[in-house]
Amino acid sequence: DTTPRRRPSWIKVGAPSGETYDWLKDMMRSKELHTVCEEAGCPNMGECWGSGTATFLILGDVCTRRCGFCDIKHGKPEAIDWDEPERVAQAVKAMDLKHTVITSVDRDDDNLGGARIFAAVIRRIRALQPGCSVEVLIPDFRGDEEALRIVMDARPEILNHNLETVPRLFARVQPSDRLEWSRAVLTNAKKMDKRVLTKSGIMLGLSETLDEVREVMRMLREWQVDILTIGQYLQPSRKHLPIERYYTLEEFAELKTYGEEIGFGWVESQPLVRSSYHAVEQVKALYRR
Ligand code: SF4
Ligand code: SF4
Repeated sequence: DTTPRRRPSWIKVGAPSGETYDWLKDMMRSKELHTVCEEAGCPNMGECWGSGTATFLILGDVCTRRCGFCDIKHGKPEAIDWDEPERVAQAVKAMDLKHTVITSVDRDDDNLGGARIFAAVIRRIRALQPGCSVEVLIPDFRGDEEALRIVMDARPEILNHNLETVPRLFARVQPSDRLEWSRAVLTNAKKMDKRVLTKSGIMLGLSETLDEVREVMRMLREWQVDILTIGQYLQPSRKHLPIERYYTLEEFAELKTYGEEIGFGWVESQPLVRSSYHAVEQVKALYRR
C-alpha cells in the first residue's frame, strides 16, 4: 500500500494576510460575527474572500452535538439573537459579496428558532445586497418538515446539507446524526421548491472505502441532489478523529468523473474542497430564476 499517511505536498495550508484581510477581521469582530472561513482556518480564504464569497456561522459558536471531526465548541448554546440577521446582511454588503453561505451550529435546543434565523438572514441579504446569491448549509433539523419549510419559504438559491461521511461511519464520526434526517432534509427541499439547487458533501480519509464513497454518491443522486463536494478530511487537533488516509489527486479526479457520469450537475472534488468552494460558479451555471 503506497497510500501516503503523512501530509502530502499538494496540501498546502497558508494563512491569508494583508490590509483588506485585517479590515475584514476587524469588521467581523465589531459586529460580533463568526465566519467558518476564520474559525476553521480554511485554506481557501484568500481565494474566496478575494472573489466575493464568505461563509457565516450563525446561531452562536456553541453546538449541541459533538462530531469527531469538528472543532466547534460543544455545550449549552446562548439564547437566539434576533438581531443577528441584520448584522450578517450588513457584513455581506460591506464585503460586497456575490455569494454567501450561511451555516450554523446545531441547535437541537431550538430547531424552529434556528430555522427562523436562517430565513431572516436570507431576507435581510436580499434587501441589502440584492445581487448576492445565498446558500444555506443547514443542520438536519432532526428531519423536521416545519423547520425546513420556514427556510425554504425564504428561497435560498442553494440548499446544502452535508452528509459528511458514508452511512457505516455515522455512529463513530457523528453519533447524534441520523441518515434518515439527512434524507428528509435533502429530498423534502426538492419537493418544496423544484428550482432550489440541493447540495451535499463528504470528507474522505475517515476509513471509508472507495466503493462506499461511490455508493453514497449514487444514493445522493437518487435523492436528486444537484451538487456534490468531496474534500480531504484534515484533523483539526490530536483530540479529533485521526486521518486514516490521504487520497491522491488522481483519486479525487476519478470521483469527479464518476459523479458527472451518474448525473450530478456539478462536482467539486479536490483535497482542499470545502462545501462553499466555487459556489458562485455553481449558481451561475445551474440556477434558473
Ligand atoms: Fe470560507 Fe468556504 Fe471559502 Fe473556506 S471554502 S474560505 S469556508 S467560503
Ligand atoms: Fe460541528 Fe456541525 Fe457536528 Fe455541531 S453538528 S459538532 S457544528 S459538524
